[in-house]
Formats: sequence, structure tokens, C-alpha cells
Amino acid sequence: MLHRTLTRLWTVLILLASESLWATGPCAEFVPRLPNVRRALCEAVKLEPSQARSVQGRTLWMRDVKPAETTFRVLVVGAIHGDELSSAAVALHWIQMAAQAQVPGSPGIYWRFVPVLNPDGVLGRSPTRVNANGVDLNRNFPTENWARDSKVYWEQGTHRDPRRWPGKLPLSEPESKFLFGELQSFKPNLIVSIHAPFGVLDFDGPVVPPKKLGSLLLAQVGIFPGSLGNYGGVQRGVPVVTVELPNALRTPRDAEIRRMWLDLLRWMDQRMGVAQRVAAARKGTYLDNKWVPAAPTAE
Ligand SMILES: [Zn+2]
Repeated sequence: MLHRTLTRLWTVLILLASESLWATGPCAEFVPRLPNVRRALCEAVKLEPSQARSVQGRTLWMRDVKPAETTFRVLVVGAIHGDELSSAAVALHWIQMAAQAQVPGSPGIYWRFVPVLNPDGVLGRSPTRVNANGVDLNRNFPTENWARDSKVYWEQGTHRDPRRWPGKLPLSEPESKFLFGELQSFKPNLIVSIHAPFGVLDFDGPVVPPKKLGSLLLAQVGIFPGSLGNYGGVQRGVPVVTVELPNALRTPRDAEIRRMWLDLLRWMDQRMGVAQRVAAARKGTYLDNKWVPAAPTAE
């Protein structure tokens, strides 16, 4: 009898301990807010804290999926707009796919994911497109003539829409500053930016764009002052795939999330030469996009 009571007590203690672990960390906040993100998925993708914080002091979480040897670097960003909840959810699903596809010890793609760039917008009482300072982060990147164009566009193109306020200065916000720092240090070969709800695929950059990702078809939407697509794709010449999911509050089905992912990989193979780079890396290595042959080995 005593033994059984002790066993029960022990079970309760273990449950309490695991509950309190689960009650902290990013998943405690993300899971109740994001669509189609189960606790197990969120925990499995093992988000890591960056040093950066949002306006309201929330951690900007990230996850690196790093191969033994890097041949290509991809930066994936979700929820630049805080009310596009599905975009963060899809980024989390893709982290799991990237991690599962990794072959230990092999050369390959170095993925860096920032699934929720605008946590204050996502986690506020009701989600907002803008950050806690009321700035549209996707208009806050330092594109050419930002001071002139972003003001003109905001006043005339959006009729002073508060949801599209570009901020007083480029990179005035900690969240955009953080992503800008990642572009400088990580030096991605490709940027994938996930949004909603227009249900299309947009593209900026110097290579042939993907025609489709899953059921999303290419329809180039336009170029905005201060947007990540404009800054990364036009100004820095790094291709930017902008995924506009069809619904901001619901993700596509899991099979569709996977199809989009596979189409992205296929396009990267065909148009960005990723497969060749991986094959080549088995015989040598790419350093800063330059081919360095492997040192001859005594076989
Ligand atoms: Zn958006």
C-alpha cells in the first residue's frame, strides 16, 4: 500500500517537473497562438535564443540546421508581420523537415531559421502586422532612397495606412536591425521570407524564379521601398523567395507544406546549382562561394 502511494507521489512529482519545464521557453507562448503547431513539433525543432530582443524585450528565437560542410546558405524568415500567424507555423514545420533530411557528416545546405521575427506582433493581445512601435518591419530595411521613397509610398501609395508605417529611419527597430545583422554575418545565398494571405509566390533577384511552390504560383507582386525583397533581392543581389500563404490564420495542410518544401529544394537544385555544389563538396569545398579543391590524400 505504502509502496503504491509512493509510486503515485513520484509520478505526480515527475509530471509537475516536466510541466514546469514545458511552461517556460518559446513553445509555451507559440503553441497556443500559432495554428497547426503541436507542442511536440515546437519542442522537437529546438529553437535557440539569439542575443537580440524585440521592442518589448521578447527573445528573437532561431534555429540553425548545419551540415558537416556548408555548400549553400539559406535564411528562412517567418512572421515579419505579426498577424500572419501561418507563416511562423510553416517555418516551424520546415525546420523539422530540414533537420530530418540532414545526413550526418555530409556536405550540404546550412539553414538558418528565424520563424518569428516580430514576436510582439504575434504574441500581443491580438496579433498585429506592425511591431510594438507601430512599424511595418518589411518597410524598414535600408533600400536606396529610403528616406524619400518610403515616405512618398506611405503617403500616396497607402494613404498613410498605419499598418504600413515604415518608421522614422531605416533599421530603426531592433527586429529589422537583428535581421540586417544576420544578412551581414550569415551571408545567405538565398532568403526565403514567409507571409500571408495573398496565395502567391513573389520573387526578387538575379536568377530564374521558381514557377510554383506547391499550389502557389509565381506572380510578382511589385517592389516596395524598405522591403526585405527589395533590399535583399534588388540591392544586394541575393535571391529572395517571398511565399504568400493563402490564409494568415490557417496553414495549408501538412502534405501541402511538404510539397512547397520539396518544390523549393527542387528549384534550388535546378536553378541555384545546389546539388552540384553538394556533389562537388565531396571532392573539395566551397569557401565564400569560391571553389577550393580538396587536398590530395594518400589513398
Ligand atoms: Zn506580410
